[in-house]
Amino acid sequence: MPAVLVYVTTSDGAADEVALQALALGAQVAAGGPVHALVIGDAVAAASLGAYGASQVHVAEHASLAAFAPDARARVIADCAASVGAAVIVGPGTEGGNTVLARVAARADLPFSANCSSASGLNPMSVTRSRWGGSLAEAARLHGDRVVISAAPHTVAINQTGGSAAVSTFAPALDDADLVVRVVDKVAPAASGISLAEAKVVVSGGRGVGSEAGFAPVEDLAGLLGAAVGCSRAVTIAGWRSHTAQVGQTGTKIAPDLYIAAGISGATQHMAGCRGAKKILAINKDNEAPIMGDADYAVIGDLFEVLPAISAEIRRVRGA
Ligand SMILES: Cc1cc2nc3c(=O)[nH]c(=O)nc-3n(C[C@H](O)[C@H](O)[C@H](O)COP(=O)(O)OP(=O)(O)OC[C@H]3O[C@@H](n4cnc5c(N)ncnc54)[C@H](O)[C@@H]3O)c2cc1C
Repeated sequence: MPAVLVYVTTSDGAADEVALQALALGAQVAAGGPVHALVIGDAVAAASLGAYGASQVHVAEHASLAAFAPDARARVIADCAASVGAAVIVGPGTEGGNTVLARVAARADLPFSANCSSASGLNPMSVTRSRWGGSLAEAARLHGDRVVISAAPHTVAINQTGGSAAVSTFAPALDDADLVVRVVDKVAPAASGISLAEAKVVVSGGRGVGSEAGFAPVEDLAGLLGAAVGCSRAVTIAGWRSHTAQVGQTGTKIAPDLYIAAGISGATQHMAGCRGAKKILAINKDNEAPIMGDADYAVIGDLFEVLPAISAEIRRVRGA
């Protein structure tokens, strides 16, 4: 029963959903052993982690940790892991999570397996990890007395134990070298305010939308459904939407209840980002588009007729 340390990322006083999934993976590996959670600077979020399987919570407080600095975070995680004797370090398999965990592994020359959906045992640890943008599940073994893994987003169910955990705060040691790479500015995306990664409904447009202005019916339907607007890479490359809206292997990975894909062919790299959707509705002129193989529902037709028709029907039913 190895001791496990889980790096829990937070936003505005709450643990990120993907971090709670990492905590569940950590508990899986610990198999009854201690599950330590590490939170950087967010004592409010830390207090709730006992209810999700943490047996002990550590909060690192340091003025320099307010802005995202991956090397600094890696040092805090490595030092915390050493002090609690953690044999396994787990974190969320997000861009930020993997960026930090790769540094943890590199600093101490530890093996790192990113984007795992299951893990058990130690030296060797057996993992199932997501490869090729989620289109391949690979069974692998990790050798080492201390290993680092990240949880593939939305592949591990959150563990609501309802328990409680002791929370302790510590001041980590950091120096200037740890802060060379850091966020110095943030530019808010020009979006509706609904987060693509967390939205329950996402309406996306692809090359079939034809232009920036062509997104009007996509936005109209998204507005009616309280949905986030997404897009394919063909769209971001054309400059019609910002990269923050891109769904896919090199964009955001989403797991909404409903994904509506209009004018999107369904390339492997796109589907890698939306395979977690509970239901996919494809709207496409081509009944042989690859997305038809993944879609739960399909409307074969011109999106400029189909999307307005759906919106009109929603308005009619709502009496608006
Ligand atoms: C390393 C790498 C990473 C990548 N990462 C991503 C990624 O993260 N996300 C991503 O999306 N792609 C990614 N791609 C690109 C991917 O391979 C595809 O090129 C891209 O997804 C295609 O976008 P699309 O479906 O919008 O365009 P297309 O493949 O051109 O499809 C357009 C679709 O619209 C339909 N259509 C046209 N007009 C209409 C209309 N009026 N009404 C209805 N349907 C219509 C067509 O029938 C067609 O099926 C990546 C590629 C590589 C090599």
